[in-house]
Amino acid sequence: MIIQIDGTHGEGGGQILRTALGLSLVTGKPFSIQNIRGKRKKPGLLRQHLTAVKAAATIGNAELNGANLGSAQLVFRPQSVTAGDYHFAVGTAGSATLVLQAVLPALLGADGPSTLHLEGGTHNPWAPPFDFLQQSFLSCLQRMGPVVDIDLQRHGFYPAGGGALRARIEPAPLTPFELGERGKVKAITTTALVARLPRHIAERELAVVKKQLDLPNRACRVVEVSESHSPGNVVSIVVESAQVCEVFTGFGEKRVSAEQVARRVSKQSKEYLDSGVPVGEYLADQLLIPMALAGGGSFRTGPLSLHARTNIDVIEMFLDVKFAVNEHADNTTTVSVAC
Ligand code: AMP
Repeated sequence: MIIQIDGTHGEGGGQILRTALGLSLVTGKPFSIQNIRGKRKKPGLLRQHLTAVKAAATIGNAELNGANLGSAQLVFRPQSVTAGDYHFAVGTAGSATLVLQAVLPALLGADGPSTLHLEGGTHNPWAPPFDFLQQSFLSCLQRMGPVVDIDLQRHGFYPAGGGALRARIEPAPLTPFELGERGKVKAITTTALVARLPRHIAERELAVVKKQLDLPNRACRVVEVSESHSPGNVVSIVVESAQVCEVFTGFGEKRVSAEQVARRVSKQSKEYLDSGVPVGEYLADQLLIPMALAGGGSFRTGPLSLHARTNIDVIEMFLDVKFAVNEHADNTTTVSVAC
């Protein structure tokens, strides 16, 4: 039997496809998806999604139908997953970290270690930035068993891309994960990165974040990057608590002042700090697959995004698990999963 997926379901974005690819590889269940990214302005398979499809097909020796640029439908029939040394390049602005997101579930349970060499954007808006993956998502994942190390070889910014990262994946059975409390906040640090742009942009950003979050000078750092293919500017705020590390990211944009970029990311961090929950919006949707693969676990977050709810629906199509979403009066949500 083939699983039928409607790409306009819920949020109707690329996550539906990536989750389907990942879990099809894990379970060996084929799927057919229509209206790929049906609710996005430019629907269908963009280069980044096509790279994820081809990467998943290579790793899982899958038969493909409809894997073309712009295609609105795809049939994916995997065979067995092979661990190994792989190289995938997005080729444009597309995010390399989202290609990792698509194939990681399969490699976590593969029969040996793998190394992925990925080229594309490493710091893109609408995708997990490298620093978030490393410090937040992967540090949670390691607590569930597998060891995943990533290193950044070259920064890649939207829209030019051209970044490179390497991921080493040491599989291990996933164990259930509980993240109900954040624990004491141990450190808040901020980095303003400028690549081939004037240093004063980063300095102005840090001045805003420092004031908004009341940080000491030693918690603020400028990083200047020269090796990237294009200019870029990223402001990260890292909140390290006893039980979890969260990373908030602001991206410099043309016609948006450095101060505005810094204010936006400061606001996100403040909302997180005030909420008291351990898990922020993006980490919430990304923890769902590993928790479902572990067959148990729970976490507390803020109001659950449509993105996360859509991801739950797709996960439940492939795995024999049931999620429970409990909304509390204080505007927090507990998400748990069981077999
Ligand atoms: P989609 O919009 O369906 O292509 O999915 C985007 C993915 O990127 C989701 O897994 C989000 O959690 C993730 N994402 C987007 N922005 C950020 C961010 N600033 N930090 C971490 N993850 C992000």
